[in-house]
Amino acid sequence: QAQHGSKLPKQKPLPGIKHVVVVASGKGGVGKSTVATNLALAFSKMNKSVGILDADIYGPSIHRMMNVPGRPEVNDETNKMIPKSNYGVKVLSMGNLIEEDAPTIWRGPLVMGALDQLLRQVEWGELDILVMDFPPGTGDVQLSTAQNVSVSGAVVVSTPQDIALIDARRGTNMFRKVGIDVLGVVENMSYHICTNCGNTSHIFGHGGARETAKEMELDFLGEIPLNAMIRENSDKGTPPVMVDPNNVCVVPFLEIAQKI
Ligand code: ADP
Repeated sequence: QAQHGSKLPKQKPLPGIKHVVVVASGKGGVGKSTVATNLALAFSKMNKSVGILDADIYGPSIHRMMNVPGRPEVNDETNKMIPKSNYGVKVLSMGNLIEEDAPTIWRGPLVMGALDQLLRQVEWGELDILVMDFPPGTGDVQLSTAQNVSVSGAVVVSTPQDIALIDARRGTNMFRKVGIDVLGVVENMSYHICTNCGNTSHIFGHGGARETAKEMELDFLGEIPLNAMIRENSDKGTPPVMVDPNNVCVVPFLEIAQKI
């Protein structure tokens, strides 16, 4: 097993928290939250104490993927929220704090206030890693985080398609500009393993993210297949890494976590 933390810097970003690792993508729907959730669980399986913060304030989904519905309790003395916990990982999602259908129109100062609450008004306790699921693209959350938190690094998730790659490229450049170290690129929906026959096919093309990573002098962390089992379990709150860690479709999550 790789020595964990080799890629991560030494300074502590927040009291009690050793590392903040953000998971980002250029556009929505590429599986960023799926990767964030399963990476968090993979870190936990490596005996790390882990939290996951869903900072995708425009479209939160981690509360569903981790099956932690409802509002968190508040500590009367400190007035801080106590994150819920499931599968050994502490969870707080914007989805726990706002109504499911509430339109969220967040602008600069509001975003900073909401983010500050999620990071500092929460009893995260001692954590080795806090995984932060960013909204897609490059907006207020990304900038505000870069300005207010010392982030250990970003994992950029992309699909093999050109457009997703172009957006990932833009996102990566933004991180570089604001001084967040990019830990590497993950290609999601990389290939399809047929549930019936086990055959592999490259539905969206193949190797694009690996090439882009190389071009941009970034580490390529791994490929995750497109698979019905990943979607079904992610969407019903039983994350693949928990239900079937030895599945060929799930092993890549664990291998990627070991490289970070
Ligand atoms: P994002 O956070 O980038 O918007 P999500 O993680 O919410 O994307 O994923 C979008 C949808 O795609 C979800 O229904 C999820 O279950 C599904 N999905 C993500 N990755 C995979 C995969 N590798 N195989 C199958 N379905 C996937």
